[in-house]
This record gives sequence, C-alpha cells and structure tokens, in this order.
Amino acid sequence: MWHHYSHVPHNFKKQNFLTTIMAEKIKMTTPIVEMDGDEMTRILWKMIKDELILPFVDLKSEYYDLGLVKRDETRDQITIEAAEKTKELGVAVKCATITPNLKRMDEYKLHEMWKSPNGTIRSILDGTVFRAPITIPSIKPVVKNWEKPITIARHAYGDVYKSVELRADEPGVAKLVFDGESGKHEEVVIHEFKGPGVLQGMHNMDKSIRSFAHSCFKYAIDTKQDLWFSTKDTISKKYDAQFRIIFEEVYEQNYKAEFEKLGLEYFYTLIDDAVARVIRSKGGYIWACKNYDGDVMSDMVSTAFGSLAMMTSVLVSPDGNYEYEAAHGTVTRHYYKYLEGEQTSTNPMATIFAWSGALRKRGEKDGLKDLMNFGDQLEAACFDTLNAGIVTKDLVNLMEGIEPKQVNSLEFIKAIRANLEKRLGCC
Ligand code: NAP
Ligand code: MG
Repeated sequence: MWHHYSHVPHNFKKQNFLTTIMAEKIKMTTPIVEMDGDEMTRILWKMIKDELILPFVDLKSEYYDLGLVKRDETRDQITIEAAEKTKELGVAVKCATITPNLKRMDEYKLHEMWKSPNGTIRSILDGTVFRAPITIPSIKPVVKNWEKPITIARHAYGDVYKSVELRADEPGVAKLVFDGESGKHEEVVIHEFKGPGVLQGMHNMDKSIRSFAHSCFKYAIDTKQDLWFSTKDTISKKYDAQFRIIFEEVYEQNYKAEFEKLGLEYFYTLIDDAVARVIRSKGGYIWACKNYDGDVMSDMVSTAFGSLAMMTSVLVSPDGNYEYEAAHGTVTRHYYKYLEGEQTSTNPMATIFAWSGALRKRGEKDGLKDLMNFGDQLEAACFDTLNAGIVTKDLVNLMEGIEPKQVNSLEFIKAIRANLEKRLGCC
C-alpha cells in the first residue's frame, strides 16, 4: 500500500499474464459507487475514465452526478442516495465537489446553500477520514528523515467544532451543569470571574469515539501500518482520558490478536510527545488525532510532504465501507482558465489514486485478483511517469535530482496510459 516507489512490491513489475487482456477487459462482479463532481476535477474525471479505466476494465459502476447543478436540481437528494448506495455496495470513488457559499449561490442560481457533500456523506457513513501523501524519491519531504508516508486519521465529530461559547462581560460564576434523564443533577464551578472573560462548552460521545477507534484499527490492519493515537489526558483527566480508555478497550477486545499476528503496534502517547516523535520518525504509520489536532496536524504533515495535489483521502466507516477521493478541491482557478480554452497542467494524481484505491478495494472484497492487480499497476504506471520526470506544473519546482518535463493534464494522463499498457503487456 506504500505510495512510494521504493516500497512498490516486486509484483508491480511488468507482468504478462494479462497479455490477452484488451480483447477481454478485466471483469468486475459488484459495481462501485461513482460520484462525479465539479469544475476542473470533473474534467480530469472524464479524462481518467476514458484513458486509464474504460480501455482496461469492464467498469461496473452506479453513477451519481454530485455536480452542483444536479445537486441543486435534486434538492441534494442525490448526495444522500449516493451515500446510501455506498452503504449497500461498500466501495465508492468520489470526485471533488463545490461546497456552496454566497458566491456560488449567485454563480449557480442555487435554491439553497446546500451543505458540504463530504459532510453529508460522512454523517451517513459515520466514518473517519484518512489522508496520506503520495511520495516519490525526487520530491523530498521538508522533514529529511521521513522516508515513508504518514497517514493522519482525524476524528470528524465534536469537540471545539460543536462547541457553544459565551462572553462573560461582568464578574460572576460560570458553571458546568448536567441534568440526567433520571433526575440526576451534577454541577461544577468552571470559574469565578472577577472581571470579564470568555467561556466555551464542548462535548463528544462514546459512540462517536468508538466508531473512530474501530475505523482506525481496521484501516491499520488493512494497510498493515502501526497505529499511533495521542490526546492530552494528563491535563484533561475525564474528557481526553475517555478517548484513551475507549481506544484501549476497542483494541483489547477486537483487534489485539490481529495486530500481534501481523506484527503491528498500537501506540498511545501524549499529543506533545507524539508531535516530537513524528518529527524524528521515519514515517510509515497512521496517526489518529482528535478533531482539532487532526485539523492542524494534517495541514502540517501534508505541506511538509510537498503538494496538496499529491494527497489521497479515504473515508472508512466502522462497519467497513470505503469512499476514496482526492484531498484537494475542484481547482477553480484552473477551471476558469480551461473555460477560456487553455490546456491546464492540473495534477490528476490524487484523483487517479482514488480510482485505483476503489478498484483495488472492490477486487479485494470480491476476490478478484486481476482487479486488485489493476489498481497496483495503475499506481505503478503513475510512478513510472513521475520518475521519468514527466510532471504537471505544481511539481516542477519540487523535483530534485531529475530534470522535470512539464506537460498538460491530458499529456500527463496519456503518458501514464502508455506506461500502463507496457505494464499490462498489451497493445
Ligand atoms: P483547491 O481546489 O484544492 O485548490 C486550491 C489551489 O491549490 C489551486 O488553485 C491550485 O493552486 C492548488 N491545487 C489544488 N489541487 C491541485 C491539483 N490537483 N493540481 C494542481 N494544483 C492544485 O481549493 P479551493 O480553491 O479552496 O476550493 C475550490 C473548490 O473546491 C471550492 O468550491 C471548495 O468548496 C471545493 N473543495 C472541495 C473539496 C472536496 O470535494 N473534497 C475539498 C476542498 C475544497 P494554483 O492555483 O496556485 O495552481
Ligand atoms: Mg484545516
């Protein structure tokens, strides 16, 4: 699963067993859910399908157009339907989509300011998002000892993101109060204000923390990586401690045996200790973070690895459904240039890896070795292309030890196709 050339297993080398393949495309049994999207990524989506998927795979997909026009037309029902279908079929691939704001309301003449599709899908699947960089030898991370990707798993519910706040504008007493349904009443004094100040109340739920834990342990086993988890339970002895306790419980009861069998480690530590260790580490593990820590640390880790365009993202639900996408948005600025007739050099890597990830997972779930292999070969063909120095504009200034040749998106995808054909021993 390493998105790194030096970790590409040897079965990635050119194989001949699919020699006859183009006469007969790779078969699928269960469809994947395909969620189309907006702007430049919608353009890339079609190029990727036409050049890298449809010529090789007898694609079975349930297509949902999550482009903003269709979402508005269906009053966003299509997003809900796509998420429900993902629960039924287990694997989805999603294109980046616009999250409407006031400007988009006007631009698309929307009936309503529809919610973020990713938020809607996440709440239906109850999942955790895992973000991992695609790394290549010629793009060196800022942290020079990082040799392998670091995957951030961010808890996507509660804490400061669902908090309520108050301005205390005079002296007074602030209390935290809980009224149980049974009639139980608990209260603690937060602070006796002698002058003005600020207050914040936040919460989380055992159920959400438990789902988060299951998703993390499942994904660690899936990708055969150690799992790190960090909180500040020395200071927060009830709130953060509850996270530690639930993770420990879920691990002991459900995953310990499998971890031991695979030689994996579950490692709990304080957030500040984790930060120090991450910087000194070689990488190659999943770092599970509370909501705020994950928000902040994922930006740090992704920036340090190089480019947003090289960041993959997968939503994993606690019951084992997977939705693959790119971590970046719809690349609006490039789309406006494209509309003016310019061939842009937008990087399709993360979107291609969403497809390869989804097809490989579908193959794994359905026991289809050729489909799994196709996912591997498609990624390997991307690495062949980048390692030969053929790159999109965003990567040109990041490359070291190799003379990069900048191409536009379609040329880049066609170069990948040529390498894919070589690898599959066809055409
Ligand atoms: P963005 O689409 O990620 O793009 C921000 C900038 O990052 C781009 O202008 C570009 O820089 C660079 N970039 C991102 N992806 C790239 C790629 N594949 N190849 C080359 N450069 C890339 O973020 P945004 O402009 O803030 O958001 C645009 C729209 O996307 C918004 O409507 C937002 O709601 C949506 N969005 C969707 C998702 C999602 O569906 N998961 C996530 C985030 C944002 P240069 O312009 O300097 O070349
Ligand atoms: Mg953020």
